[in-house]
Amino acid sequence: MIRFASLGSGSRGNALLVQAGRTRLLIDCGFGPRVLAQRLAKLGVVPEQIDAVLVTHEHSDHVAGVAALARRYACPVYLSAGTRQALAHRQIAVPHLLEIDPAATFTIQDVDVHPYAVPHDAAEPTQFVLASDGLRLGVLTDAGSTTPAMLDALRGCNGLMLEFNHDADMLARGPYPAYLKARVGGAYGHLDNGMAADLLAQLRSDALQVVLAAHLSETNNHPDHVRAHLARVLDGAPTVWHVASQHDGSGWLTLGRVHS
Ligand SMILES: [Zn+2]
Ligand SMILES: [Zn+2]
Repeated sequence: MIRFASLGSGSRGNALLVQAGRTRLLIDCGFGPRVLAQRLAKLGVVPEQIDAVLVTHEHSDHVAGVAALARRYACPVYLSAGTRQALAHRQIAVPHLLEIDPAATFTIQDVDVHPYAVPHDAAEPTQFVLASDGLRLGVLTDAGSTTPAMLDALRGCNGLMLEFNHDADMLARGPYPAYLKARVGGAYGHLDNGMAADLLAQLRSDALQVVLAAHLSETNNHPDHVRAHLARVLDGAPTVWHVASQHDGSGWLTLGRVHS
């Protein structure tokens, strides 16, 4: 069994808790110690129980709480060389760093971690597929476009956390300055609803149990738009779906083995 829960997702902070067997991992930690502890407590977890943090990239909505977590709890932090250098460049001192090869699978206790590269405007952005107990959870946020390698990495997953960042029309008509619209909507920015839905349509399968839509823009998207895409793409599929919010956690979402 794998279970996972968003602790909050969006441009003001991201963290995903994943539990598989005895192992509890965080993917990113954009929340400070107090908020992190509060949101973990709702799931029956204390920060001391986090075995490791996987960092996708150096943007502050993903790393703002990483240094404090690593320092307080001697929690190992896995990241790419580029992400490590970018943190050092910003003089963010994080202890207990472990550099990963973004092309190589590695193991943390009960979990096999498959990193994969994504197009995003960060030094060496890396997303992850976690495998345990014959189940696979794919995570993808902060990508401006989809690539064949991303599709290969995510194909066959039993659970997906997938970015639905913005609605292209809302972004175009919205209040962002032109440079920011170009950045968010560009090939190294964020997935819009249509791109995410197209990707999900390609990943739809009978094995896909749960989809968590994530990293929604509070300015340029609305959960109802995302829900409409999910309902359309997953119509008739045996897949439950949820939309993650910035201010609340999702609660536990569970992937189970299918016994025949
Ligand atoms: Zn982000
Ligand atoms: Zn980012």
